[in-house]
Order: sequence, then structure tokens, then C-alpha cells
Amino acid sequence: CGIVGVLGQHQAAPILVEGLKRLEYRGYDSAGIATVHENRLDRRRALGKLVNLSDLLVHQPLAGTVGIGHTRWATHGAATTENAHPHARGRVAVVHNGIIENYRELRAFLGEHQMKPETETDTETVAMLCDWHLTQGCGPIEAAMKTIAQLEGAYALCILFDGEDDLIVAARKGSPLAVGWGQSEMFVGSDALALAPMTDEITYLEEGDIAVMSRAGAIFFDAAQNTVERERRKVNVDA
Ligand code: GLU
Repeated sequence: CGIVGVLGQHQAAPILVEGLKRLEYRGYDSAGIATVHENRLDRRRALGKLVNLSDLLVHQPLAGTVGIGHTRWATHGAATTENAHPHARGRVAVVHNGIIENYRELRAFLGEHQMKPETETDTETVAMLCDWHLTQGCGPIEAAMKTIAQLEGAYALCILFDGEDDLIVAARKGSPLAVGWGQSEMFVGSDALALAPMTDEITYLEEGDIAVMSRAGAIFFDAAQNTVERERRKVNVDA
């Protein structure tokens, strides 16, 4: 239901949790974050309120300056820790708002390649498909672009890769997503409010857009996956 991502200069976990708090008003049943630290993708998830995730992070901290976070409002699969985002398969972690309408078809395709779902969610299929493209020899950006082109339905997505500590691929179709600009830092979130403590320089993704983000900035692609310019504007939100 809510998404936050950061490619930062500071520890990501507290920034992600703070951003998710600012999205609490949307409602949710579980929450989680993933980071890449020393080239390793790892995640923490907790059922219920964000305080449960914060408590978990006290006992099992998650280091790293790049990460993605999510508050979930379950549509496919029960509200459980296992079904909470980020979903991770192989080298890929995904947070997602919305519904992947063709996840059954995608699961069937992946099943033919001996990849079985481990959760009840539509979202896990995105992580599986992206990981499958990696196994076929694609680089991370190419794998993400191919995966996104295969998705039907409504989504805001952020994808994080094991071994990649300067990359988040974000995409939007039917669910809003805003990219935030910092000083050698980049942010992404469901809305500008989530990013308000970090930045007020925002690029709103348009329908079908993909943003390939690093700490140096973002490159935007439209629904046809051609590069496009997207306006960067100063927004007035109460931090
Ligand atoms: N369809 C996804 C799920 O049920 C995402 C729900 C959401 O937007 O939070 O896990």
C-alpha cells in the first residue's frame, strides 16, 4: 500500500521506516524493508504495526545505505509475515502496490522452468520472473525492463538486486510513484509526503514510466521503454 526507497549516504533502515510512517494513513497489515549491504541482499518483515518492524530491527538490525520498504494492504494472500513485502527470490527483491492481474499465467510459465511460488502473493511472481531473466543472462536493468513489460494490472514497484548497491528500478502503472532528488542521494516513494523529510525536489512518474535510479540520478523510460525527459519540480509539502 505504501512504498519507500532510498539510495543514500546514510543508513537506509531508519529512513525507510520514517518514510513508511508517513504513509501509515493509507492503512496496512504488515511492513518490511530490504537493503543491500556488502553486496548482500537481506530483508526484515513484520506483521501488524510499524512498531513491530522497528522492534525487530532493534534485535536484528539491517545495515546498508540502499533499500526499499513497504506497508502492505493484502489483496492476494493472507496478511502474514510470509506474504509481507519485500518479496525476495534469487537475486531479486520487490515491493509492490496494486495487483498483477496476469500472475497466474506468469506462474504457469515459471513453473515450466521449475520455479515454484513460496508465498500466496501476486507480487512474488514479479521477483521470480525478474530472477528468471537474470538466470537467462540478462543484466539487472535489462531483467527489470523485460519483467515490467510482461506485467498486466496496476502497480507501483521498486526492485532491488543482490550485488547491486547503487541501483533501484522503479515503475508505475495505475498506482502513483514519486522520485525524489537529493545531494548524491536519490529517493522514491508513493507520494511526496513520504519523501518530505529527505527532499522536496520531485519527479512524478507518468503512467507506464520506469525509473532506473542510482545515487547520481535517475533515467526515465516511457511505457514503450524509450528514454524520456520528466520534469523535476519543487513541491510544497509540510515536512
Ligand atoms: N497485491 C499485493 C499483495 O497483496 C500488494 C498489495 C498492496 O498494494 O499493498 O501483496
